[in-house]
Amino acid sequence: MPPMSFIEGFEKLRLLDAAIEQSHNSVVITDADLDAGPRIVYVNAGFEHMTGYDRDEALGQTPRMLQGPATSRAVLDRMRGALASGECFDGEAINYRKDGSWYRVRWHISPVYAEDDDRRVTHFVSVQQDITDERRRDDEIRLLSTALEVSADPVLITDPEGTITYVNAAFEEQTGYSRNEALGQTPRILKSGQQDADFYREMWDTLKRGDAFRGEFVNRRRDGSLMHMEQSISPVTNAGGEVTHYVSIGKDVTDRVRMEDEIRRLAHTDWLTGLANRLSLGDTLEAEMERSRRYGRPLSLIMFDIDRFKDFNDDYGHETGDEVLKRLAETVRGALREADSLGRWGGEEFMVVVPETPGAGAAAMAEKLRKAVAAMETPCPISVTASFGVSEMRPGDTPKTLARRVDEAMYQAKESGRNRVVLL
Ligand code: GH3
Ligand code: MG
Ligand code: MG
Repeated sequence: MPPMSFIEGFEKLRLLDAAIEQSHNSVVITDADLDAGPRIVYVNAGFEHMTGYDRDEALGQTPRMLQGPATSRAVLDRMRGALASGECFDGEAINYRKDGSWYRVRWHISPVYAEDDDRRVTHFVSVQQDITDERRRDDEIRLLSTALEVSADPVLITDPEGTITYVNAAFEEQTGYSRNEALGQTPRILKSGQQDADFYREMWDTLKRGDAFRGEFVNRRRDGSLMHMEQSISPVTNAGGEVTHYVSIGKDVTDRVRMEDEIRRLAHTDWLTGLANRLSLGDTLEAEMERSRRYGRPLSLIMFDIDRFKDFNDDYGHETGDEVLKRLAETVRGALREADSLGRWGGEEFMVVVPETPGAGAAAMAEKLRKAVAAMETPCPISVTASFGVSEMRPGDTPKTLARRVDEAMYQAKESGRNRVVLL
């Protein structure tokens, strides 16, 4: 077939006509009579399809047939100005179909000049494209991205390789990383090292299966501080099922975690001395007994009670008594090893769980504690003493039987004169 430029006359016309007829865009040709309103002299099949008007209904009309109440006057004015001065025009407006429904159209108009006079416009060619869906998608995207942007929860989007492609304002605010700093990085910038490899393995296994992963992450902010984030990460797939993005939506739960930690701490701490309370000490005893049994290691228990403390309170007042309890707690704690667990078992009764230590060793420790208590300064002219019971865990012991035996040892220490240690 010869090149297009060699195709002449009717053949060229026939081909161009076929090309225009096939176009999805609407093509309208009008004359250039702007006073009477340009009259339509040609429309293609795309026009019929887009507007619902038959060719016969359109020919001889003006394109005003497509305008309606929502058609922008400003755009039309601009169009008339361009056409009157023989310029091309590009615009966007609402048009109406024959059935009254509207669509959004983008169109381009070019003037066609006379063959013998290049200043005289004879026709206008207008090509129109229906951009309703495109605009609707744009609006939807704009709406969704505004929602993401104003969300109080941090949002992070990565590509399949994990490169960050989007973060919202809440992310910037809560992590301290600006958008520019975050984009192009990976979420590893937030890694605090507080999660083990298993955590990340489970996350990737879940995501690779195409499922969403929910978990509590400990992240590091830009300034180095830690934040707890409840994060939900979802893979986003395309029509072919391939992952195109990962979307992570987080919630800063740092305050909640802190509060839980504080409540847990309070629930396990004695308010007066700051030592472990009975509940906590009971847990420790149980755990240590279990451990010692499993590894076949010795474990001992020390219990002590202040001597004649009732009298002390009567003489110096309850508040002074409280002060003595606090000092005693400090004194004893200072005399213990790291592995030993000291707690307040009752009013002025204390207990020490002593791992890795047989009874005799624990008795020696108790003797040291007894001396430290007796030597301790009090806010009053007199010192206080305490009586100590010591016992080593035996096969078949439960926390209860062991505690009962050490209580009995302490009772014997009281009975035999106080301010002494009894090993049972
Ligand atoms: P014993 O040598 O037999 O132990 O004599 P005791 O007077 O210490 O007798 P017991 O241990 O039975 O009495 C406990 C007393 O300890 C009662 C109370 O006055 C005092 N006490 C218990 N808890 C507290 C406390 O939290 N603060 C103060 N200030 N005193 C307490
Ligand atoms: Mg007492
Ligand atoms: Mg007591």
